[in-house]
Amino acid sequence: MENNINWNFDNSYSRLSDAFKEHIKPVAVKNPELVIINESLAKELDLDLTKINKDKLSSLFTGNTLPEGSNTIAQAYAGHQFGHFTMLGDGRAILIGEHITSSNKRYDIQLKGSGKTSFSRNGDGRAALGPMLREYIVSEAMHNLNIPTTRSLAVVKTGEKIFRDTPLQGAILTRVASSHIRVGTFQYVAAREKKDELEILFNYVIQRHYTELKDSKNKAVDLLNIVMDRQIDLVVNWMRVGFIHGVMNTDNMSISGETIDYGPCAFMDTYDPKTVFSSIDHMGRYAYCNQPIITKWNLSRFAECLLPLIDENQKKALDIASEKINNFDEKYEDKWLKMMRNKLGLVGIDDKDKSLILDLLAWMHQKKVDYTNTFCHLMNFKTIDVKLFNDNIFMSWKERWKQRLKKNQNKPEISNQLMRKTNPLVIPRNHIIEGVLDEANENKLVSLKKLLKVLEKPYLEQENINNYQLPSNSNEKYQTFCGT
Ligand code: AMP
Ligand code: MG
Repeated sequence: MENNINWNFDNSYSRLSDAFKEHIKPVAVKNPELVIINESLAKELDLDLTKINKDKLSSLFTGNTLPEGSNTIAQAYAGHQFGHFTMLGDGRAILIGEHITSSNKRYDIQLKGSGKTSFSRNGDGRAALGPMLREYIVSEAMHNLNIPTTRSLAVVKTGEKIFRDTPLQGAILTRVASSHIRVGTFQYVAAREKKDELEILFNYVIQRHYTELKDSKNKAVDLLNIVMDRQIDLVVNWMRVGFIHGVMNTDNMSISGETIDYGPCAFMDTYDPKTVFSSIDHMGRYAYCNQPIITKWNLSRFAECLLPLIDENQKKALDIASEKINNFDEKYEDKWLKMMRNKLGLVGIDDKDKSLILDLLAWMHQKKVDYTNTFCHLMNFKTIDVKLFNDNIFMSWKERWKQRLKKNQNKPEISNQLMRKTNPLVIPRNHIIEGVLDEANENKLVSLKKLLKVLEKPYLEQENINNYQLPSNSNEKYQTFCGT
């Protein structure tokens, strides 16, 4: 087979009810040209990229040629977008199949930007080079930060122009995910009000993601709990590194607990809990500090979908689901505190930990200090101007911190290890990404590749990376766009 790079497809989702998807092929593109391919991810997937030449790879990763065993579909889903319920679906993405690795792991392989589907509404089904490379950079960075995420296997230019405010180069991203099932997928099926369809999706999710629940007494309640745990872990991770997703609509919340949909996301530099980058988020619904609240809101929408499976008695089902959702705040607080203790290298628990943590955050906020670099400073790495830290409030805080570090028979090495595992030395900074994308638009990829290399090991010391650690010196407010 001329386009076989060891794909091993078994397309379980496309075998489900036709209610859940549309069978459709990617729309061919004019002149595919490979921009970047993720060799280490290809290796993890047991793919052999040496089997075919670059032209054939380009053709493969635009969907101009389809590999043997693929069965291309667009998935149906719905979602609350900024709080409003809408029927959606893959309007510019096509799942080419589920690839099974030699260790029996199953991954969705999806082409994003692959042309119109019946879910495209007014969109052109296409994507631009900048946003697809941005997704590639940030999703791979998230993976290397040890945060669950969809991944990026390739970006290929289509050789076609797409029109937004200006003409842009078209591109297709190959996204790899443990699945693309979203809270919105459940909402779509629940809105159809056919319990048998809901059961099909539900059983499929248990089988695909949560086999540990297959013998549980009330699977629906346990699924709600386990998805809640995964989502809390995820959002705590985002808070840890200062990641702002930017568009936490229910269709962008994955049932597997991976970060999905890198549109207007960005990392916070100066610490401000109200930080919002997305140009369309006027009310700050998805601001940094709102992310846990929105996670809970989205989980409540998920719980609503599961009600018919929780109990036949509606009132009883609602009581059970509400009780579970009400546990969110305490669970989140516990996990957030644990994460923040790790950021500060605090061993064990002390009554005053929360105020110690909040006082540091308040100082960073008040003095407009860089979030990531403050923790670098506490680990004795010199990244930004040390003068910032010669501040009375900070110095007296530091004294309290040092006293606390000594508690619980702690040793400095233990604290140091904890901090080094928790605090990245480098994150994908907005101004750096912008610079790299500007060059990539001019067909220059050196900076892109260098950035990706630096972001491969965010917790390790690397030489000559200070440029990547500095926040932007521009006072202009950074804005992101959905990239549609
Ligand atoms: P997103 O903002 O990427 O989460 O997308 C929300 C919805 O809009 C999804 O149903 C997408 O498939 C759809 N969509 C986004 N951009 C386009 C586009 N250019 N053409 C068609 N559908 C799109
Ligand atoms: Mg989306």
